[in-house]
Amino acid sequence: MASVRSVVKFLGLGALAAVAAVAASLVARPQLRAELIAELNDPAGLPTLEDDPRVHSEPEARACAEAVADALPDAIAKIEAAHGRPFARPPIVAVFADEDAYARANGLGDADVAGVSRAGRAMLSPYFCAHERYRLGSVLAHELSHVHFFGWRPRGTPRPPQWFTEGLAVMASDGGAAESVTDAQAAQAIRDGYGVILDATPWSDFLAIPFAAEPPCGKGCVVRSFRQRLAYRQAAIFVAWLRRSDPDGFSRLMRALEGGADFDPAFRAAYGATPAERWKDFTATLQASR
Ligand SMILES: [Zn+2]
Repeated sequence: MASVRSVVKFLGLGALAAVAAVAASLVARPQLRAELIAELNDPAGLPTLEDDPRVHSEPEARACAEAVADALPDAIAKIEAAHGRPFARPPIVAVFADEDAYARANGLGDADVAGVSRAGRAMLSPYFCAHERYRLGSVLAHELSHVHFFGWRPRGTPRPPQWFTEGLAVMASDGGAAESVTDAQAAQAIRDGYGVILDATPWSDFLAIPFAAEPPCGKGCVVRSFRQRLAYRQAAIFVAWLRRSDPDGFSRLMRALEGGADFDPAFRAAYGATPAERWKDFTATLQASR
């Protein structure tokens, strides 16, 4: 019996140590904690609309969810046309009325993000049920671009650079998440020396997105969203140029990435150059069309 008791004691101490290690790691890594909270708050568990089981919402966001359901067929058609194939599986769209619930579900722990895609779910901020309702359709399409792309790409494969996935999403959604910057303004900023730098830096911190020179924000401008929208729109006009200048190359790149290929070799195989080299060609065409 003594030996059994010591084994139990040993296991108990081991379990306690494991719990303490997990707790310490969650405290030290807020992103990990937010992701764990998101797993426990999967919006697929929210009630669905009777007419459209793809749309889930908090009961208080029901009217907004119906507006999302109305916008959904066009948004899906737009993304499938731009990406060149159907969704791997029907998307789930979640609509929130409560900021805290949205922050818990979105995997970032942050309510101040317009939309998030995660694990096949497109999630929309409570903004879109209120003062930013006019952006609902475009941000819905933007998030669906991510759901489409990552729905095909095998789990566990390294993420392509964010300039590509965000540029693709803005292009495919006709400007979703970059509404306040036009294609022409993005092109002019590049001509003026404020081009975004296409490196592997994550674009989750919008204040850290690298530009060749800091773009002037102007009076009353909100720097964080201005930098985000300018960078996204510049990436979008570059991705659109890649598609326009070589449609077959673009299709090959998309299919390779959806199949799980690493970004740099897939880009080189499709375009015979690095993204930086093609960006140079692209900006030369902008200078020529000044
Ligand atoms: Zn995005």
